[in-house]
Amino acid sequence: MNDRNKENLKLPDYSFEKITDITPGFVRRAGANAVAFDLDNTVTHYGSLRLEPGIDKWLESMRAAGIKLIIVSNTITPRAYWFSKKMNSIPFIAPAFKPSSISLKLASKMLGEAPENILMVGDKVSTDVKAANKIGATSVKIVPLTKRRNAAMPEYAPYMTLSRAD
Ligand SMILES: [Mg+2]
Repeated sequence: MNDRNKENLKLPDYSFEKITDITPGFVRRAGANAVAFDLDNTVTHYGSLRLEPGIDKWLESMRAAGIKLIIVSNTITPRAYWFSKKMNSIPFIAPAFKPSSISLKLASKMLGEAPENILMVGDKVSTDVKAANKIGATSVKIVPLTKRRNAAMPEYAPYMTLSRAD
């Protein structure tokens, strides 16, 4: 989708509540063969090293449908590497410097797919959606994980959850 001016660069092509709501069928209907996705607040909580429940299954369903996957995150390289390892060593670009679209240009080369055939998923308009729209990828905005947690228990949302503390 290349017919964008400066203002509608911030408009996602589609939005979903969570990344796991996106099916392989939807990806194909959107004209994409690959999914590039953000990490923080998309598949893990900000600063966490744990994948949200359901992400493994979601990745597997994409793989089974022959859809290529790549992490495009503004996080530091070692953290993206950690998540890549957790996801059967899928490729990653980090730090991606979104909203610059340079990372998606690189993703396009790495995957052998034109930007128009890439669907970029993330929780932020100012980074994920903008980067995708600039280069003509399909942009998908999801609700940030933090926001969903806070919506469920606004006054009890913990800053951090520990499984064990000495
Ligand atoms: Mg994010």
